[in-house]
Amino acid sequence: MTQDIDLNQQLFARAQKVIPGGVNSPVRAFKAVGGTPRFVSKAQGAYFWDANGRRYTDYIGSWGPMILGHGHPAVVEAVQRAVLEGFSYGAPTEREVELAEEILKLVPSMDMVRLVSSGTEAGMSAIRLARGATGRKTLIKFEGCYHGHADALLVKAGSGLATFGNPTSAGVPPEVVQHTLVLEYNNVAQLEEAFSLHGPDVACLIIEPIAGNMNFVRASVPFMQRCRELCSQHGALLVFDEVMTGFRVGLQSAQGVYAESIPGFKPDMTVLGKVIGGGMPLAAFGGSRAVMEQLAPLGPVYQAGTLSGNPVATACGLATLREVQKPGFYEDLSRTTRLLVNGLTQAALGAEVPFCGDSEGGMFGFFLLDALPANYGQVMKTSNPRFNHLFHGLLDRGVYIAPALYEAGFVSAAHTEADIAATVAAAREVFETLPKA
Ligand code: PMP
Repeated sequence: MTQDIDLNQQLFARAQKVIPGGVNSPVRAFKAVGGTPRFVSKAQGAYFWDANGRRYTDYIGSWGPMILGHGHPAVVEAVQRAVLEGFSYGAPTEREVELAEEILKLVPSMDMVRLVSSGTEAGMSAIRLARGATGRKTLIKFEGCYHGHADALLVKAGSGLATFGNPTSAGVPPEVVQHTLVLEYNNVAQLEEAFSLHGPDVACLIIEPIAGNMNFVRASVPFMQRCRELCSQHGALLVFDEVMTGFRVGLQSAQGVYAESIPGFKPDMTVLGKVIGGGMPLAAFGGSRAVMEQLAPLGPVYQAGTLSGNPVATACGLATLREVQKPGFYEDLSRTTRLLVNGLTQAALGAEVPFCGDSEGGMFGFFLLDALPANYGQVMKTSNPRFNHLFHGLLDRGVYIAPALYEAGFVSAAHTEADIAATVAAAREVFETLPKA
């Protein structure tokens, strides 16, 4: 730090007086890794600048939405045009129909979609709809998957399969999660047991198909196939939470990845967010016509939103979705992302640091472990102090990765091979100084 006064520190002190923890979403506070969060003053392409005017290569991209990089000219133009026409009307617009049509064209498992403003709202609404449409109460979710902070989803595994989960947040009464069953990711035997015990009561199984909230863990193909079969067999809805993976791992999203291995594979409902809003508050959930027509005003399941389908957010989302459909977009993005993961792996191995990584499209993860974990318990075996050392070493060298080891990373179309090479060179230096395991 060359400045005498650290403006990030000053802002953080000021923020902590007026905002709990100084942040509007907990992971931003650097609680896991320690130190002062960087307050962003502006961003462009693959970079952002902090309050001290220091530049960082950004591997978070607003936690996923900024797939084109920051300030893409076509998106900026669409948003500027939309702003001049008004911020919000609370009445329908052509643009939201256009975005719905575009999403349905690209996600053929859905016949209809409803637009909302956050992933939390989309996940919460999808679950209400699944319960309303099936007339059942029980939800199945998996440990390590995050689907937003709706009460029924803030839950960890109970002591056994016959017992339901326990709240992970104060303020959530145990009664509210008593119908939520939390299972181990990628555990087929447990899944089968849960359906044999509770099958007729299960409204839906919600899953992050490639889990980005425990860093990066893929649901195995046999596990996903069993999820699909058991849901169909028991009349439960398979809900894909693609808030993170949607249009991030490929144009067909994660459901397209599984359809490559499981012929005819599709989920019953899909939850989307992040990329479809291009950085504006926008998310969505959708499914078959029969299920979606249970929603108000057609059906008995209530759901609404003052800012839903917001005209500026839909302009941003539409412009973003148009860019990602350009030929070669995901091929290039995947190549850049693989270059990063391979480069980091080589650098770690060179310094004899246990390391493994994985990526799909523009989403990646890595672990200071010899082999990729398959569930949350294995992810949590990663050593925190060593990850924190790596995080701060990279940050000091102008590379911004997620400030917690259980979060995925994101590469944008604006990241160049030179950006990746500079990041790998920085990582090589840090790996050399990493305390031995
Ligand atoms: N589902 C998944 C898979 C997510 O990653 C997130 C947010 N990271 C959410 C839901 C919640 O979305 P939001 O933060 O927009 O409420």
